[in-house]
This record gives sequence, structure tokens and C-alpha cells, in this order.
Amino acid sequence: PARHPKRKIAVLGSRSVGKSSLIVRYVEDAFVDSYYPTIENIFNKCVKYKGVEYDCDVIDTAGQDEYSILNSKHAIGIHGYVLVYSIASRNSFEMVQTVYDKILNYTGTEHVPCVIVGQKSDLHVQRQVSEQEGKDLAQQLQCAWVETSARHNANVSKVFELMLGETERGTTKENPE
Ligand code: GDP
Repeated sequence: PARHPKRKIAVLGSRSVGKSSLIVRYVEDAFVDSYYPTIENIFNKCVKYKGVEYDCDVIDTAGQDEYSILNSKHAIGIHGYVLVYSIASRNSFEMVQTVYDKILNYTGTEHVPCVIVGQKSDLHVQRQVSEQEGKDLAQQLQCAWVETSARHNANVSKVFELMLGETERGTTKENPE
């Protein structure tokens, strides 16, 4: 019988880095310039990864501070985190480490499955964070890393493939829950 393991993924990062845009692009294949949700939103999508169909809840933390998700009822049972910065904002890049530390503090573990995402890769001229810096941080935190553009639909689905790859690293085939 087909199984649809549930995966709960939280998307965190500084304000305006394009978290909502990334999720909306992925789930609804749209880019909306004025998308202003004021509360936490949960999106749902079925994702096939390595022959398994996963039932994914993607939690958007829009309208709150960077890690308010960790204090909310939605924080329970999260399988993995997408940590988003904008390549055009050094502050948002520095926030990734801060958010990561908060998560470890919250979960009380040494490591959590994470994908670090450098968003707005289309903003070449405004770039403040190099690809190498992104890769170095990912290596340091033992996370996956990718640059994306929600606007141009570049690498967006890759984020969630990497995320499932990260969550499955610690899970056996026999026990996909
Ligand atoms: P959030 O606060 O992190 O959820 O960010 P939003 O998704 O609301 O996006 C903030 C702003 O960045 C909006 O004006 C978006 O249109 C814009 N934005 C989002 N993604 C991209 C992108 O990939 N490229 C560019 N150039 N702008 C983007």
C-alpha cells in the first residue's frame, strides 16, 4: 500500500528576504509582488522524493519576528528548517547563524536538518553575500545550501528536495515516520 509520510517544514529568516514568495512560488507556482500575510500560514504539498510521496506541511512565519515560530504551537514536531537570507542583505545572512543557534537551543539537540537558502539570486547588482560565503556557512553548520530566485523561479523546488534529503539522512527506510 502507498504510504505518505508526513513532513513538517518551517521556513525562517529575516523579514522581507522572500520567505512567503519562495513558498508561494513552490506551492502555487506564482509570484505575487504584494503578498502580505499577517499571521502564520501553513501550506500543504505532496512531494515525490526518491520514489516516496511525502505529505509536506510548509510553515510560513511571515509577519512575526525571525524565530517566533519556536514559541508557537506549530513548533511541535517540525522535521526540518529552511533558513532563508537575501543575497542582497548581509544582515539577513548573519541572522541565519543566530536563528540556527536558537533552533538548537530550542530543540536541545546538536544538529537539526536544515537547508540554508540565499534568496533573490536575480539581484546581481545588489549582491552583498557571495556564493562562497553561503557554502562556507552551510559547511560549518552541516546543512545543505542553495541560491534561489522566487521571482525567476530558479532552484525553488531544489530547496524542498534538499530538505527531504536532509530529513531522510537520519531516518531509515523501515521507519519513515
Ligand atoms: P518575507 O517577509 O520573507 O516573507 O518576504 P516576502 O515574500 O514578503 O518578499 C519581500 C519582498 O521581496 C517582496 O517585495 C517580494 O516581491 C520581494 N521578493 C521575493 N522574492 C524575490 C526574488 O526572488 N527576487 C526579487 N528580486 N525580489 C523578491
